[in-house]
Amino acid sequence: MGLIVAIDGEAGAGKSTVAKEVAKMLNFVYVDTGAMFRCVTLDALNKKIDVSNKDGIAEILENIEIKFENDALGQKVFLNGLDVTDKIRTKDVDDKVAEFAAVGEIREKLKELEQEMGKMGNIVMEGRDIGTTIFPNADVKLYIEVSEEERARRRYNQNLEKGINMSYEEILANIKKRHKLETEREISPLRKAEDAIEIDTTNMTFEESIKRIITIINDVKIGKNLKN
Ligand code: C5P
Repeated sequence: MGLIVAIDGEAGAGKSTVAKEVAKMLNFVYVDTGAMFRCVTLDALNKKIDVSNKDGIAEILENIEIKFENDALGQKVFLNGLDVTDKIRTKDVDDKVAEFAAVGEIREKLKELEQEMGKMGNIVMEGRDIGTTIFPNADVKLYIEVSEEERARRRYNQNLEKGINMSYEEILANIKKRHKLETEREISPLRKAEDAIEIDTTNMTFEESIKRIITIINDVKIGKNLKN
């Protein structure tokens, strides 16, 4: 069986970019579990099913099919056969996803799907609870951190490029609010697994972060006598 690499951390910590690049370099499958929570949220919004509607949510979960497909431009996300790569990134989904992600039945279903995807190994799975709940026995567990101020600064600059006008203070306040929601929720709160390696990228370049992670993974491979 191949390796399982679990990457957790908060929103805006640059996890996705790092996880994608690491998967590409190792020729591993990349799974963005945040995208899966976004798919459930989108499905519910489309069907006008509220977060408190247990029957409605059960119906969604019974029939849901989430697939990832890679092409030259990156990874595409399919929900029940439809390409929703862009639709899961809208503000409506952004605003609601944390609420849906706190529903136990949704987490249970996605846990099943995530564990199924990891069966073959050689996978980089990225999220909030991969090292703690989904794959507590992952071969490599990483926890990516970046200071809140640095995250706000990065987001502020991204927004400037996109022409979005939001003050640094407002962005920082949002980041702090999200941190509270994600670390204090009852089910599967975001926390570092005890045996995860913490990587603080606040003062690292992208290349430095990748190098550090690849070194860690290679060391694990050597320990396991795996060649590639
Ligand atoms: O990573 P991303 O920001 O796209 O994730 C969207 C939302 O899904 C997060 O805000 C979080 O509430 C939820 N999530 C989660 N557990 C995961 C991945 C994402 O609760 N493993």
